[in-house]
Amino acid sequence: MEKRPGFLTYNDNAVHVIPEPAHLRYTSSVYVDLADYALADTPDAEPVAAELCRLFGLSGKGPGRVLCGELADAPSPEAYSISVRSGEVRLASASRRGMLYAVETLKQLRAGTWLREMELEDAPAMAIRGFHTNLASIRQLDFPGVLRLIDEMAKFKINLWLLEYNHCFPYAGHPALHGALTFTPEEISAIEQRCKDREIEIMPLCQCIGHNGHIGMHPEYSHLFEPGAKVVGDMQLCPLNPGSFELFKDMAEQLMAAHPGGRYFHIGADEVRSLGNCPDCAEFVRKYGKGKLYTDYINKVCDWVAAQGWKPVIWDDMLSHFPELVPQISRNAAIMYWDYWTTSDPSPFFIARPAALPQTADISWKDRWNELDEPERTITRLYGELTDVKECLEKTPGMKQILPYLGDQTPRWFNAFPFFDFYKDLGFEVFAAPSAFGNTIDDLYGLPNLGRTCKNIRLFAEKCRKSGGAGMVTTSWYSFPQETLSIGIIETAQNTWCGKTLSPLEQEETIR
Ligand SMILES: [Zn+2]
Repeated sequence: MEKRPGFLTYNDNAVHVIPEPAHLRYTSSVYVDLADYALADTPDAEPVAAELCRLFGLSGKGPGRVLCGELADAPSPEAYSISVRSGEVRLASASRRGMLYAVETLKQLRAGTWLREMELEDAPAMAIRGFHTNLASIRQLDFPGVLRLIDEMAKFKINLWLLEYNHCFPYAGHPALHGALTFTPEEISAIEQRCKDREIEIMPLCQCIGHNGHIGMHPEYSHLFEPGAKVVGDMQLCPLNPGSFELFKDMAEQLMAAHPGGRYFHIGADEVRSLGNCPDCAEFVRKYGKGKLYTDYINKVCDWVAAQGWKPVIWDDMLSHFPELVPQISRNAAIMYWDYWTTSDPSPFFIARPAALPQTADISWKDRWNELDEPERTITRLYGELTDVKECLEKTPGMKQILPYLGDQTPRWFNAFPFFDFYKDLGFEVFAAPSAFGNTIDDLYGLPNLGRTCKNIRLFAEKCRKSGGAGMVTTSWYSFPQETLSIGIIETAQNTWCGKTLSPLEQEETIR
């Protein structure tokens, strides 16, 4: 007698898998029960054997078998395929990571130990699909929470974690920097191991100049810092004090040792707001300008990081402040372009950070907010004042270099993410960095404004794919509970893995 699945099946061909697989075709309405199947003993099955047995209770007593093999002609190292037919289930990939992804997909497709007959071929649209956390600012992330976060990223095929520790790393030789949230060395090792197990590459971040309040607040280090920071979080190392570079090197070496074998090392370098404050720096700025003070120091840091065998990565906002100096930045560096505000293309805003407030736009919008859609309308209302784009461009002469990238509807509308192609054309490797919650100024009903962040993530992924970016890393800031990170992870996964964002109707067409 034919075995029945024992659950209600819907005549539904929709694919409830995140991120959406490239090609999935249900070949019949038949479900097969893998509890009756045996796992064929092959080397390719080794990384996933225990998990497959746990998921499906593979007994080996029945007629069917599960085979794991190498994927021939794989379009990317992360590609995998799944074939489910009565009597035989085949998983194939060109890599251990791809095999893990096949199993993650099966977890979302199975009903208990049952799978519907299908053929699936899958590969990512973007090679680097990343998520960032600042462990110091997302304070609910204790050690078990970090492990859950890693598992969650792996579940959705995120393959890079931009890991910002600040005082959460147990820096040897710096006991003053250890705080209430600092992990133990054993916990750091376990985090590293968990990422290796889940095939998530770690990109450590160590701020080389600004945003070092967690260090500057301690008297032992205050001599390295510029005077006059407006808030603790803005405290900035003096780029001309040799001790600043030595401190950075010491901390960076410890992070590199804790996470060996990585490719990218992020040096931060964003929002450096006290350039030229100390007498030495003031003198330098008088002679050569703030931009050179910044770029000389950054190049020194980048060259050192590169000499350690890592590619340095830098936030781009200071570069957008000095566009005329961008060509002088070391090509050792990759640029991570962050923009948390653009949600339409073309956009009514030119996000010129930090030369102006985020809402740099044609001044005529001021009285015509009702012509805008959400979330721009909300953003505009919250900020109140628009900075006129003409004024912004006049005040920052270097911005003229960006003009060709703004599009021919300027100044009413601007091409989304105009700096992307500017950096690319100068020969830099460029990452996109949208945000899952990058600014709390437009929180809605006490929650992150997901309407804005999800659009921002989707649109930036599209730009990154079209312009040949290195990949995308979605940032998360502020101390919301851990569960709020999930939306950003899922939105990032969907838009970096899929070549396009399918509407429900298009899905009907594709999955037949
Ligand atoms: Zn100084």
